[in-house]
Amino acid sequence: MRLVMIGSGYVGLVSGACFADFGHEVVCVDTDAAKVATLRAGRIPIHEPMLDQLVARNAAAGRLSFTTDLAEAVREADVVFIGVGTPARRGDGHADLSFVHGAARELARNLAGFTVVVTKSTVPVGTGDEVERIIRETNPGADFAVASNPEFLREGAAIEDFKRPDRIVIGIEDARARAVLEEVYRPLFLNRSPILFTRRRTSELIKYAANAFLAMKITFINEIADLCEQAGADVQEVARGIGLDNRIGPKFLHAGPGYGGSCFPKDTLALMKTAQDHGAPLRLVEATVAVNDARKRAMARKVVQAAGGDLRGKTVAVLGLTFKPNTDDIREAPALTIIQALQDGGAAIRAYDPQGMAAAGPLLPEVSFASSAYDAAEGASALVIVTEWDAFRALDLPRLHAAMARAVLVDLRNIYKPDEAERAGFVYASVGRPVPGEAEPLLEAAE
Ligand code: NAD
Repeated sequence: MRLVMIGSGYVGLVSGACFADFGHEVVCVDTDAAKVATLRAGRIPIHEPMLDQLVARNAAAGRLSFTTDLAEAVREADVVFIGVGTPARRGDGHADLSFVHGAARELARNLAGFTVVVTKSTVPVGTGDEVERIIRETNPGADFAVASNPEFLREGAAIEDFKRPDRIVIGIEDARARAVLEEVYRPLFLNRSPILFTRRRTSELIKYAANAFLAMKITFINEIADLCEQAGADVQEVARGIGLDNRIGPKFLHAGPGYGGSCFPKDTLALMKTAQDHGAPLRLVEATVAVNDARKRAMARKVVQAAGGDLRGKTVAVLGLTFKPNTDDIREAPALTIIQALQDGGAAIRAYDPQGMAAAGPLLPEVSFASSAYDAAEGASALVIVTEWDAFRALDLPRLHAAMARAVLVDLRNIYKPDEAERAGFVYASVGRPVPGEAEPLLEAAE
C-alpha cells in the first residue's frame, strides 16, 4: 500500500520507517525543510535506538522517502496519516490542534481516489469529526474516510513498541476504512497483536485515558514516597509489595522527580480541559497534574536541604537533562524545572547528559555543560541525578567524592543504595527511602 506520514518527528518517523519495513511504500512529509534535508542525506535528526539502521535499510530498498511536498505525496496515497505535534495551547492547556487542522486542509486539496485519512497524533475526542468537516469543506468532491489510530510507542523503545505493541487501537466510522487499515497492519494481525476496533471518538479517548492513568500511577507512588520518608518506610519495597499484585502490576511504580516528557504533561492537561468542557470533570487527573507540578519544585528543595540549607554561590552538578534515558527529548523534563529552581536559589549549575545537551542548551543559557559526569562534579557542592541513564548507574563514587567540594549526592531515581553511598563518604538523599544510619533498627537489633 502507499502510505503518507504527515509529520516526521518521533512518531511520524518511527511509524513511517516501521510501516516501510512491513513492506509498504511510505513517504514521510515534513514542513521543516532542514529536517527533510537531514533525512534525505541519510542522517537521523533524533536519538532513537536502531532507528538509523531501519531508516537506511528501507530507504535503500526504495520503500521510504522524505519530502516537503505534501501535495504530490498525497495524490498517490491510499492512506494518509497525520502525525504532527499537538502541544499544549498557550494560556489554557487545551491541545493546540492548529497543526492537525492545517495538515487536514492541505491534504484535502490533493486527495485523489478513495483515501483513508488517519489521525495518529494524540487528539482530543471529537477531533476526527472536525478533520472530516475540514476536508469536506475544502474539497466537497473528495472520496475519503477519517479514522483514528493513536500511537502508544515510548521514546527510547519506539521501534520495539511499534512492531510488538500491547495493542493497536483503530477508531472508524466507515467499513471501507476498516478494510484498508486491516491491510496496513496485516503483519501485526499475523503476529496476533491485539487489534481493537472501536468508534472514532472512543479510540481518541482511549489514548488520553491510557496516558492519564499512567501519569496517575506515577504520581500515586510519588506521593507514597513522600509518606514513606515521613513514616520511615521504603517506597521501593512498597512498590514491589503492591506491584506483585496482578491487578496493579509493577510498571510505572518507580518513585522519582515527577513525570515529564512530550506526552504526559500536555495530555493530562488536555484531558482535564476536555472533561471540564464536557461538564464531567476528572478530579483524579486534576489532582495528578497539580501534585506533579508541585513535585518538581519540591525536588529542588530536597537538594538544598541535603546540601545543608543554602546553595547560594555554590555549584550543583546535574546529571541527566532528558525526561527519561535513551532519548534526546527534553520537552517538559523535570530537570528543567529543578535547574530553574536551584538557580533561583542562587546556585550555579554544571550539567551533563549523554544525548540531551544540544536540545537543552538554548533553554538553559546560564548552565555550563560538562563533558562527563566526573567533569560536571568538579568543584560541586552537590550532585543530583535527575535521569537514570545507564551511564550513571555505576559511577566511581570515590572518584566523584574526590572531585567535589562537598560530597552530597541527591539521587532522584534511587539508582544507588543508601549504604553504598554512605560508605563512600557521601551525604546521600534519595526518594522515599530511609536515611542511612536511621534504617531498620529492629533488623539491626536482631543481628
Ligand atoms: P514532533 O514535534 O517530534 O514532530 C512533529 C513534526 O510534525 C515536526 O517535525 C513538524 O515539523 C511536523 N509538522 C507540523 N506541521 C506539519 C504539517 N502541516 N505538515 C508536515 N509536517 C508538519 O512530535 P512527536 O513527538 O512525533 O508527536 C506527534 C504526535 O504524536 C503528538 O500528538 C504526540 O502527542 C503524539 N505521540 C507522541 C509520542 C512520543 O513519544 N513522542 C508517543 C505517542 C504519541
